Amino acid sequence: MKIPFTQSSHIPTDYEFKHSKWIKKILRSYWLVICLHALVQIACYVFLAYDRTPADFIVNVVIWPSAAGSAGILFASWIDRRFSSYSSYAMSAASTIIAWTIIHVNYDIRIIMAACLLPIFSSVLFFNKKGVWVSFAMQMIGYFLLLGVPSYRQFLSSFDIVSIPVFLLAGTYVAQVIVTSSIEVLDDLKDNMLAKQDLIVRNAIMTKQSKTDGLTNLYNQSSFKDYYDKAYEYANNGMSLHLALIDIDDFKAINDTYGHRAGDVILEKVSLIIKENITSSDIAARYGGEEFAILMFEQSFEQAYAMVEQIRQKIAHMGHLELDGAFVTVSVGLKSYSPHLSKDKLFEEVDACLYAAKRTGKNKTVTSLDLPNV
Ligand code: GH3
Ligand code: MG
Ligand code: MG
Repeated sequence: MKIPFTQSSHIPTDYEFKHSKWIKKILRSYWLVICLHALVQIACYVFLAYDRTPADFIVNVVIWPSAAGSAGILFASWIDRRFSSYSSYAMSAASTIIAWTIIHVNYDIRIIMAACLLPIFSSVLFFNKKGVWVSFAMQMIGYFLLLGVPSYRQFLSSFDIVSIPVFLLAGTYVAQVIVTSSIEVLDDLKDNMLAKQDLIVRNAIMTKQSKTDGLTNLYNQSSFKDYYDKAYEYANNGMSLHLALIDIDDFKAINDTYGHRAGDVILEKVSLIIKENITSSDIAARYGGEEFAILMFEQSFEQAYAMVEQIRQKIAHMGHLELDGAFVTVSVGLKSYSPHLSKDKLFEEVDACLYAAKRTGKNKTVTSLDLPNV
């Protein structure tokens, strides 16, 4: 996995942010290792018998290993800030310096050799197989450099000289297996997450498709019926409700004269005007072929009337290139909820208003007030 390059003007992604948080944590743990090493050495010097002079001890056991480790950490922090794509290698280098200075100072403690596994296993955290082997190479360099120190070389048996690289190799192989399986687990997780997201999006699209009309994007008849049932219930509980039915005049003639495709464009344009002129709380649907229904809430009858009239007039004043500049009109029926009307009766009466508008010349809005016998 490649760590993205971070520029000063670049806003860090979530991944980069989490990654830099991890690097800071690891760097903190390296500081801790250096401090603990110095403290343990001082405690041993104070409480155990050491054959070193205080000056020799302070310089060679406390100061220089701590200074070398600190320089490694500061170098890694600088690389991380300036060239973040190389952070993992810089971190390995820092931990290699820390591990091998500690091994150098304490080479007479056999188990201390295990410290060189620290850089290898910390490179696992970067999920980078190459990084693990680069870290192994660094440990081998540290090892050969230390072999150049005569006291260390004399301390090791021939068996040690061979077994240390083998020990490192085995450790690196285990680290690589951990990285490989972690990458597989992460990939599986990512695939699962993507599949889940895909399913959620598909579901949302299907839900929308099942509720809306493909041509006009308005609600379809079946979802309108659901909304109408709910709206009627709310109206029974005191909410205001007005129902309007809008039907395009002489639409069959439009189809016959200009073709079905031109008729479809007119349906889209009429729908758009309806959508643009209703409020966000209103519900508009394509009820049938060239028939639309609007449920209006939160307004007076006068406001609802003004709204449907505005829709009718806007449609009437719009010339259509698809119809060689001809105009299209609509007729509208409008009525408010009334407690003595059943849901079906209210719908029938709005339909009767629409029919009256058609019968009396079209391109008009007829309400129950215009029809005293309805
Ligand atoms: P009126 O003024 O009385 O409403 O007459 P009209 O011609 O509009 O009414 P009619 O019911 O006679 O014709 C409606 C036409 O609408 C018939 C049908 O082919 C057409 N139609 C229905 N759905 C669609 C559609 O999705 N696209 C197109 N282009 N035409 C459609
Ligand atoms: Mg019609
Ligand atoms: Mg019709």
